[in-house]
Amino acid sequence: MTVTAIVGANWGDEGKGKMTDVLSAASSYVVRFQGGSNAGHTIINHYGKFALHMLPSGVFYPNVTNIIGPGTALDTGMLQKELQLLEDKGVPAPVLYVSERAQVVLSIHRLFDELEEERLGSRGFGSTKRGIAPFYADKYAKLGIQVSDLFDEARLRERVERLLEPKNIMLQHYYNREPIHPEVLMEQLKAEADFLAPYVKNTTEVLQKANLNGESILLEGQLGALRDPDHGIYPYSTSSSTLSGYAPVGAGLPASSISRVIAVVKAYSSCVGAGPFVSEIQGEEADELRGLGGDAGEFGATTGRPRRMGWFDVVATKYGCSIQNATEVCLTNLDVLGYLDEIPICTAYELEDGSTTQAFPVTSKLNGAKPVISTLPGWKSDITQIRKFDDLPKEAIAYVEFIEASIGVSIRTISVGPRREQVIERR
Ligand code: GDP
Repeated sequence: MTVTAIVGANWGDEGKGKMTDVLSAASSYVVRFQGGSNAGHTIINHYGKFALHMLPSGVFYPNVTNIIGPGTALDTGMLQKELQLLEDKGVPAPVLYVSERAQVVLSIHRLFDELEEERLGSRGFGSTKRGIAPFYADKYAKLGIQVSDLFDEARLRERVERLLEPKNIMLQHYYNREPIHPEVLMEQLKAEADFLAPYVKNTTEVLQKANLNGESILLEGQLGALRDPDHGIYPYSTSSSTLSGYAPVGAGLPASSISRVIAVVKAYSSCVGAGPFVSEIQGEEADELRGLGGDAGEFGATTGRPRRMGWFDVVATKYGCSIQNATEVCLTNLDVLGYLDEIPICTAYELEDGSTTQAFPVTSKLNGAKPVISTLPGWKSDITQIRKFDDLPKEAIAYVEFIEASIGVSIRTISVGPRREQVIERR
């Protein structure tokens, strides 16, 4: 039985989309288990360049059944847009199932997200304003709407009315806005139901059977370990668990089914949004790395915002790999560092009390932490065409081996460019 989770060990944007696309070729199922349209996975293949927010990254392969699982925040509008985009670019219609237990992101969630960021102003969290925090707040407050509710009008009306009771009080008295009439949401949700109908399934049953039959299932994480609400940089975290431990829960599989956890790690650091980021660099140094990173510079796939940049952070990545329970690491964007004479690496944190630590601290201590930097020699060359580990320049091999020894997890795959074929498998 092969259930693999592919997850981020940093702050997100590690290149999970590309690696999921690569691994999908040999998978029968690709499953989204958490989050919604608040992060984007960049995939470049012979159909073009795509930033997928809602669709699983297996949609480019006809052999893959793509599943949007119960733990996700389903943004129907975004799903519709992405399916249209695929069709426009000549991608054959993917096999796609949406869990009847997934909950839907409502227009009122996006509205509340915007109003709250507006109210907070400079104290905001850098929300992508896709409604994710209000959505998960309502889910756990038992006010959410499941996909299956969309197909039972009386139940849907009752759920919508119940949700709007507290929301309308907030809208009028906290945000100074007009209340929303239940029929407005009902109309929107009826249109969503019509669109979703052909995709809705008991995906838990589908996956449980596939697991028993020993089919290969890939669980695709969004964002990274340091954005996990329990183990990350709370409150600069996301609202659903980004960890491999949650992957079977959000997908609908037994916890013991996962046999392989691939933690995707970037060869340097990047981060979108607010929050502590110890190895961050500024000014020209950051601009240069940002300009060369990713496939066209480091800009958010969802918001287009310039990403904050930093050097590789051993403390954060070792912690990220351990809370992900990584069985192996995929190191991405190694090619990007080819311009440097020397490559700085953050190997420890100096805390405000003067002590040095290699253990990732809680957010309150992280705020005042400073990076302890070591340097390794650079390789000053283009490695994007290299496909064998031993063919890499000796400095690049030393960089990979240094990271591997520091984080204590084998680096099995190295990505040396944004395209599918730019991968080095280490045996
Ligand atoms: P994800 O959310 O983890 O899938 O990451 P994003 O797609 O947001 O960001 C990763 C960026 O790096 C995208 O622009 C990718 O095209 C790009 N990318 C992925 N792997 C590599 C790599 O090995 N080298 C380079 N240069 N770019 C890469």
